[in-house]
Amino acid sequence: MAKKAKNLAIAVDIGGTNIRTAIIDQDGKIIAKNVTKTIQTGKSGNIIVAQVIGDIKKLIVKNSPRKFKGIGVSAVGPIDMKKGAIVNTPNIKYKFIPIVEPLRKTFGLPVFFLNDCNAGALGEKYFGEGKKFSNLVYITISSGIGGGAIVNGNLLLGKDGNAAEIGHMIVDTEYNLPCTCGKGRGHWEAYASGNNIAKFFRAWNKNKHSISTAADIFDLARKKDKTALMFMEKLGKINGRGISNVIAAYDPEVVILGGAVALNNSEIFLKYGEKYIDKFLRWPKIEITALGESSPLLGAAASVFHNRP
Ligand SMILES: [Zn+2]
Repeated sequence: MAKKAKNLAIAVDIGGTNIRTAIIDQDGKIIAKNVTKTIQTGKSGNIIVAQVIGDIKKLIVKNSPRKFKGIGVSAVGPIDMKKGAIVNTPNIKYKFIPIVEPLRKTFGLPVFFLNDCNAGALGEKYFGEGKKFSNLVYITISSGIGGGAIVNGNLLLGKDGNAAEIGHMIVDTEYNLPCTCGKGRGHWEAYASGNNIAKFFRAWNKNKHSISTAADIFDLARKKDKTALMFMEKLGKINGRGISNVIAAYDPEVVILGGAVALNNSEIFLKYGEKYIDKFLRWPKIEITALGESSPLLGAAASVFHNRP
């Protein structure tokens, strides 16, 4: 007797740099995947959804048409879940990017829509370390900093689907660095995201050391450069405060760290970050994701299989 075919989902991850589309089965296996650069040359946000539709069609044709349970979309935020659109994101130039309706109309499938950090949390819950827990926070430290929280088994969404914007928690009043969000100062993202670590380094070091990227600073720290190691203490304090705030807010059993900065520098990141987490808190497990960069994409698929957020 033939084995029963596994359920399949189409998963989409829309970022400011890349759009990923994939076919994923109910066990979280990525069967096929495609990555294209996010096109930002059209007049309106419709160009983005047109690109997504084209990418999905190519993927389906290439893998010979099959049956899908639905389409799960993880998108760079902020999003408006009710409108099914990306709104006013600083990462793509269009103010309004409709997603859900055009996909539903084109493919005739149910469409599930989440911001990428919340999708990441869902990916961890169903396919990663979070399988064992009902309370987890996923933190991504990449070009920005974001998070998603699952509390008592429920993904926290907030009014528009952007809950757990932890990158904009205030973690410093000494340097008061302006944040990429536009108006805030002292936000975690302004110090510890991939785009801002070097700025923080220069502010801390009063421009004595001309260093231009986060990767350079971590490389120097790995070579035991004295200045870089002193800075790691400073950065560790910032990350420790951020993670402490997260623990205080959500009482998770596990905090899962992802994103390029955490993934590429996991050892050094954990060493200095954990050192400065408040000692009075009830500590959760703190881990680097085992899913690499795929948590949001897997979370998009999970939303289809489990009919949620
Ligand atoms: Zn901010």
